[in-house]
Amino acid sequence: MLKWLKFYLNRLQSPGYILKGECKKCGRCCRNIVFFAYGNPIKDIKLFEELKIKNKRMNLFYPSGKNENGEILFTCKSLLPDNCCKYYFFRSLYCRRYPLVKSLSTGKYLNPPEECGYRVVPKKPFKDYI
Ligand code: SF4
Ligand code: SF4
Repeated sequence: MLKWLKFYLNRLQSPGYILKGECKKCGRCCRNIVFFAYGNPIKDIKLFEELKIKNKRMNLFYPSGKNENGEILFTCKSLLPDNCCKYYFFRSLYCRRYPLVKSLSTGKYLNPPEECGYRVVPKKPFKDYI
């Protein structure tokens, strides 16, 4: 009985994930940004120019390369040469939360790239849910 109660209590509570580790100040997350438009990653610079007119915040970024999938990689203009953020205390909620972000397609937390000093880990060890 107690086992079932624990099981359902755990189901009611979100498992919860946290970040472990620390920022290595590599700046990767501020210069390898892929933006989505109409459900797809931006691959066409013309589309980016159009979006800049509709959403002024897009002007905070500039295209700085492409990945192996042909998706444009954007760099934030607030990134300083020492990989620190120029507006650290005023950065967006998304920046504050990164890299604790969920996949748009699966809704599951994504693990940051290998180079990142953080890992996304469950708040409690697996055995505590059993
Ligand atoms: S990729 Fe990770 S380690 Fe590098 S700057 Fe971003 S948060 Fe920090
Ligand atoms: S606002 Fe700062 S933390 Fe956010 S992407 Fe730009 S440089 Fe990075």
